[in-house]
Amino acid sequence: MMAVIERHLTDTELNPYFQELDITLQKVNDNARVQALILQQTDPHKGYPRLIKNLATFSKSLSTELTVATIPIRLVLNKTRRQSLTSSTFEKQAGDLAEPTCFLCNLDVGQRGVLILDGKFIVLTNPGITLPGDLTIAATQHELQLIRGRFAEMIDIAAILPAFSIYFNGALAGASSTHFHFQAGYKDKLPGEQQIQRLLAGRAVGNARLRKIVKCATMEVFQIENFLRSVQIVVTKDRQALLEFFDYYLQQLQKVSAAIKNIPNYPDFGSLIPSLGQKESEPRLNIMLKYYPDYQAFIAGFFPKRFNRPQCYFQKGRAKIVLGMAIKEALGNLITCRKPDYDRLQRYPEFIATAYQDTSITSEMEEAFFRALKTFK
Ligand SMILES: [Zn+2]
Repeated sequence: MMAVIERHLTDTELNPYFQELDITLQKVNDNARVQALILQQTDPHKGYPRLIKNLATFSKSLSTELTVATIPIRLVLNKTRRQSLTSSTFEKQAGDLAEPTCFLCNLDVGQRGVLILDGKFIVLTNPGITLPGDLTIAATQHELQLIRGRFAEMIDIAAILPAFSIYFNGALAGASSTHFHFQAGYKDKLPGEQQIQRLLAGRAVGNARLRKIVKCATMEVFQIENFLRSVQIVVTKDRQALLEFFDYYLQQLQKVSAAIKNIPNYPDFGSLIPSLGQKESEPRLNIMLKYYPDYQAFIAGFFPKRFNRPQCYFQKGRAKIVLGMAIKEALGNLITCRKPDYDRLQRYPEFIATAYQDTSITSEMEEAFFRALKTFK
């Protein structure tokens, strides 16, 4: 996509922002470039107008902390996420109107980015703001939103951008574009990320408990019990072991996902996905990955899903609550874009527990899945 590559910001253009960040030219790397990009795109004179406008809207958004079955959850009313929250890209049926223009091939007015991994990806600021500094990391070619064979790129991106957590939403697990992309945000800012770090450090988070499910020489894999949603955490210093585990994980979750069928409002696993023009070929999954240079260690969080929409989304009239359970929700940050939805969830936190339960894999699926994971060597 030539047009996308032309939106690349050079180090010369980023130089004033390196100075603002106290980064000397000898210390410029991708991690510094992306932080400078965030400043450039929010610069009122040279920046990205829609992002700047949305930051103003975001600063007025409402937010509250709730305790749902002992686990703290942040609930937000954030109108800048409306486009992504109401996106039905992957819910379109064959015969629906043609795809709108791809917003990752045709960038917005003033939207510019930084090329990484030899120009294979462009890092952009995300105008749908969960937290200021949010990024979309898009492939520079229009390739499909499928993770199989591409997790190595996610590892590479996490390693070169250690100030950030890198996120991935699978096709029926909350992605809002068919164009291959990751997301990222400043590391450890979301409640769930902080809770995972606390648990790994042996500290308490409500009734949540860390339980080891795989231990081998190079890595540890945990699940978190009593945490509202199914999640597996991997801690490792070994890039190759992480890659091999991911392949195995995907393969085993795919087998277990055959149980996703005949659920009201949810597409059966393996059905045709009209927006991808092919049958569903990989499990529904949200991923978080981050790298800690001081320990040279990766921490990954995998959230296996049945679907991104909880059943309340399909209710009629006032009973409907617009929620999309993607990676940010998996990380304890629930976004609503309508005031009545925000008010109801605040009043009935048990609806949040149900939304997690609806969209996560079931405990029966989890049992079969863990039995398989335990055989990983
Ligand atoms: Zn595209």
